[in-house]
Amino acid sequence: MAPLNRRQFLALTGGVFAAAALGFPGNNSLGAKRRIVIVGGGIGGATVAKYITMMDSYLNVTLVEKKTTYHTCFMSNEVLSGVRDIASIEFGYDGLEKRGINVLQAEVTAIDPQAKKVSLADARTLAYDACIVAPGIDFRWDAIEGYNERIAAQVPHAWQAGPQTQLLRDQLKAMRDGGTVVIAAPPNPFRCPPGPYERASQIAWYLKNHKPKSKILILDAKEKFSKMGLFTAGWKRYYGYGTDKSLIEWVGADEGGEVTGVDAKTMTLHAGSTVKADVINIIPPQKAGHIAFAADLVNDLGWCPVNQQSFESSIHPDIYVIGDASVAAPMPKSAYAANSQAKVCAAAVVAKLHGEPPPEPSYVNTCYSLITPEDGISVAMVYRLGADGTITKVEGAGGLTPSDASDAMRKREVQYAYSWFKNITHDTFG
Ligand SMILES: Cc1cc2nc3c(=O)[nH]c(=O)nc-3n(C[C@H](O)[C@H](O)[C@H](O)COP(=O)(O)OP(=O)(O)OC[C@H]3O[C@@H](n4cnc5c(N)ncnc54)[C@H](O)[C@@H]3O)c2cc1C
Repeated sequence: MAPLNRRQFLALTGGVFAAAALGFPGNNSLGAKRRIVIVGGGIGGATVAKYITMMDSYLNVTLVEKKTTYHTCFMSNEVLSGVRDIASIEFGYDGLEKRGINVLQAEVTAIDPQAKKVSLADARTLAYDACIVAPGIDFRWDAIEGYNERIAAQVPHAWQAGPQTQLLRDQLKAMRDGGTVVIAAPPNPFRCPPGPYERASQIAWYLKNHKPKSKILILDAKEKFSKMGLFTAGWKRYYGYGTDKSLIEWVGADEGGEVTGVDAKTMTLHAGSTVKADVINIIPPQKAGHIAFAADLVNDLGWCPVNQQSFESSIHPDIYVIGDASVAAPMPKSAYAANSQAKVCAAAVVAKLHGEPPPEPSYVNTCYSLITPEDGISVAMVYRLGADGTITKVEGAGGLTPSDASDAMRKREVQYAYSWFKNITHDTFG
């Protein structure tokens, strides 16, 4: 095979090894150690910490994460159906520490862009040359009357995985056969566009096998949703969708689907009509994680605008924002996207510290959704930087599972999804 030129190499690796191509690793030309502080050790933050260290091992990288362990949201819907247990989606930080990354368990409360300092809840401060913010999402607690952080301990959102996932699983297990599960799906933009519908599929799988007289009602703040044709076709295959006996009913915004209030005491939801439920899963409207607001990194819509070649904030220099909190459409807010953006950002940060321009990026995303343990669907896309400096889809480079895919092909999609889960968690935390 002929050797790749630099452009072909970068396109193939999605920017992953861009800094290696620039010759940074092991290069101590910076003299005194430059300090990089990363806020949030989820998919975006952990990946960027690892890749910066791989690109230039002389940099001083500190990752600040408020939790001791991380639960992936991806595959958490399988915890709800009982296909896997919560331990299988739990990851720690030993792998990153072994790479020489300082992992601090603490909460970041402020970032001072002038003094270039990060403040922690325990009163410590950390000076930085570059700060990368990857806090994920927060909820708009004021959007649904009667729903707030306290009520979420009783009526789970399960949209940040961990105890919330377990709570929803326990409620599903405790529910009587013949009960109604209501899922309130949020307006765009939000974390994981196909997630609520994969969740409905997984809960339907559990109910079909254990409580077949039960029903799922999805009340949606949108008129359509990601992979809608593929999901509804899957629901027809397994759950009687569209018939009187359907396990799943979906009500879009134009039919009164948007939930405006909830009463946790009476287990009642207010949308176009009033609905009584046995288990309620509210997925509230979303915004960037709280620290992005405290650090003045957000626009009027509550998300962080960035230079999409480097992910440097458009508001404060030397602060970068990646993952769900950033404005990176047409990329979705997904773990795959956060991981891909982290690699682009790592290369740009290392380049800047070496006085180089950011390399030409390429970005990638695939979202798998599991309708049953033997039936999966996916959507994939490759992106590049457009002439106007914004992330642009590469025409013809992506695709959806075909609507006429065979049973064998959809079964293979499940295996691809499991393989992806193994690979991305190793790539991020290993
Ligand atoms: C049910 C569900 C299914 C999903 N399935 C998929 C899927 O199949 N494929 C896919 O690609 N994506 C999927 N996603 C989306 C994916 O989980 C997110 O897009 C991804 O986690 C975003 O990564 P992030 O780094 O931006 O945020 P996160 O992974 O949420 O990480 C943010 C981290 O920052 C920490 N943090 C926040 N603020 C502070 C602070 N002030 N100080 C210290 N630490 C802080 C948090 O504790 C957290 O660990 C799914 C999501 C859900 C809810």
